Amino acid sequence: MTIRTRYAPSPTGYSHLGNIRTALFAWAYARHHDGKFILRIEDTDQERSTDAAVKVILDAMSWLELDYDEGPFYQMQRMPLYKAAVARLMDEGKAYHCYTSIEELDALREAQTARGEKPRYDGRWRPEPGKTLPTLPSDIQPVVRFRNPVDGAVVWDDQVKGRIEISNAELDDLVIARPDGTPTYNFCVVVDDIDMAITHVIRGDDHVNNTPRQINLYHAMDKPPPVFAHTPTVLGPDGSKLSKRHGAKSVMEYRDEGYLPEAMINMLARLGWSHGDEEVFSREQLVHWFDANKISASASRFDAEKLLWLNHEHIKRAAGDALAAQLVPFLQKNGFALDGGPDVSRVADLLRDRAATLVDMAIGARYFYVRPVFDEVLFKEHTNDANKPALVELAASLTSITWSKSDINAAIKASIAKHGLKMPQLMMPLRVLLTGQTQTPAIDAIMDVLGREEVLVRLKQAVVT
Ligand code: GLU
Repeated sequence: MTIRTRYAPSPTGYSHLGNIRTALFAWAYARHHDGKFILRIEDTDQERSTDAAVKVILDAMSWLELDYDEGPFYQMQRMPLYKAAVARLMDEGKAYHCYTSIEELDALREAQTARGEKPRYDGRWRPEPGKTLPTLPSDIQPVVRFRNPVDGAVVWDDQVKGRIEISNAELDDLVIARPDGTPTYNFCVVVDDIDMAITHVIRGDDHVNNTPRQINLYHAMDKPPPVFAHTPTVLGPDGSKLSKRHGAKSVMEYRDEGYLPEAMINMLARLGWSHGDEEVFSREQLVHWFDANKISASASRFDAEKLLWLNHEHIKRAAGDALAAQLVPFLQKNGFALDGGPDVSRVADLLRDRAATLVDMAIGARYFYVRPVFDEVLFKEHTNDANKPALVELAASLTSITWSKSDINAAIKASIAKHGLKMPQLMMPLRVLLTGQTQTPAIDAIMDVLGREEVLVRLKQAVVT
């Protein structure tokens, strides 16, 4: 059997971490089992669905490289399929028209609540052998209700929550089509999951209450229900529902703040799933290890600090080319002219140990692309009669050496030795002249990346001062 999972977001709000974690789990499960992953946009709530929200979902999937094998399917484009399924259930006597008016339903609810009962539809239009139905009202467009079984219970082995059993007595006859004929949410989900041959429904546990109703619909349509895995909610660090207050943002904001998709994937995976003590892992490792039965049944907490830490770990580990490609837009945003400047992957390699985000890294990269303004005060702080001649001499020797980190290093050391200086006595003014800063990665490495010509231009300032 080919495993088929899906992510079925409703494009109604901002795509938050909890939503996209569901996508990740469904994706990872499919990939782990060499299955198929399907994207379905549940846009039937036309009042709340927006194109902007669809775009965010698609952008987030693409940024995180959660590639789908089929879709995106849009439920609004699949109405004929749902309507045909409603008609079939009607033909088979598994669904019926209900003409109860809104006022009647309100009155029913009030009476039940007054008696201390759970409000539920009382089945007044449900046909039964020998039962006389109410007189057909002429002014009411009926809804279609599903004939839910009255006896027995719905039972499923949830891959996350374990065995769940709900008595049919708890479930009333679900409306599956509105008076205007449009099918309702729970019904579309089942028709689609059947049509798309979904084998594993991995979704947020806010849908647990829908599952028994959906399972009954599967039975009515003579299809075996899929395996269900309901993932617990993502909470904020204080244990309350995750919100912007906790620093949680829409997924795409993390991209703009310089997080790597690999770090996001790692963080999202750890929200409710683990593999031993592994903290930092790649997408490939996740796919290799992922199994739905290892999803934790208890709610997990999002920790923005941890994400930042993970981001740095992934920046440290990223392949040079990939890191450079991701850094480029941030450099451009800062207005740096990259043409003629040093190779971005060499810059990224030098900065990766100190940058927790690509935004940090782009800030740190400034002196590679923008010649620092000569800071005379700072320079004077770090120079004196002892080291200045050494600087001048170093500048001269740099004109003729082979341009490599080791030869640059040798030239610096020779200058230091000749003038009887300590290492920092030459390193500090070099840093100031070349970068405008006193804290940088190894200066010989920076010089190597900056290139001879640019280094000499910057050092010349020492000669004239
Ligand atoms: N569209 C639903 C949501 O965004 C998910 C439905 C499902 O996964 O079955 O919450």
